[in-house]
Amino acid sequence: MNIVLLGPPGAGKGTQARLLVDERGMTQLSTGDMLREARQSGTEMGRRVADVMDRGDLVTDEIVVGLIEEKLEADPGGDFIFDGFPRTLAQADALADLLDRRGLRLDAVIEMQVDDEALVRRISGRFTCASCGAVYHDETKQPRKAGVCDVCGGTEFKRRADDNPEALRTRLMEYYKKTSPLIGYYHAKGRLVRIDALAPIPEVAERVRDIVEAPRAALDEPAHSL
Ligand code: ADP
Ligand code: AMP
Repeated sequence: MNIVLLGPPGAGKGTQARLLVDERGMTQLSTGDMLREARQSGTEMGRRVADVMDRGDLVTDEIVVGLIEEKLEADPGGDFIFDGFPRTLAQADALADLLDRRGLRLDAVIEMQVDDEALVRRISGRFTCASCGAVYHDETKQPRKAGVCDVCGGTEFKRRADDNPEALRTRLMEYYKKTSPLIGYYHAKGRLVRIDALAPIPEVAERVRDIVEAPRAALDEPAHSL
């Protein structure tokens, strides 16, 4: 089972991916997390992408496709949740090719629909555990015990440098210009499922779970079968 979580910044992709990892043992492949790790460990590539990420622009297709290829090489069995990848048509073509060469396929692409107003609220309240990366929100998802991570017990939290109004504007523009065409791309391939991601986290999780359990039943009717 391999799925893509597709949606604008703040749609809840990382939140739902982590639930699938915990509940089903799937592997989350988040290009955003990989790039942030590269920055933190001070690699040459990490230094090159820092300004681009802080502005909210997309890094090059070549870099992110390379990161995904490395992960697929290391773990040839599949069961992947692609989170924040692909983000351009070129990345989607590259992913199709990478999976094809390994005899893997995409079972569903879940488009998480949220309006822009909610995205601003989500992004401005987001914080994560500094040790395990668990995702929280000032209003909608506080740790059960204040100041202590539910998952690992960590007591340090951080906020992302690009979770500010200016970078968010750029990230949203990038999404609508370069990523939203993937909705049509995957619809035409008969792989798209749209969900209302404005609902509370457990409700969105239930819908995602239904799709992962029966992807064929959930897929939107592709145009070519009309
Ligand atoms: P993405 O990975 O798509 O950028 P995240 O999973 O990091 O989004 O979620 C963005 C913020 O919104 C986080 O603070 C998260 O706790 C919160 N969040 C995620 N899903 C929901 C939801 N269904 N309802 C309310 N808040 C949510
Ligand atoms: P995310 O954690 O998914 O919100 O991504 C954070 C930032 O990393 C984005 O604003 C981009 O600068 C970069 N990034 C992450 N994934 C990709 C991708 N697939 N293609 C291009 N840039 C990406």
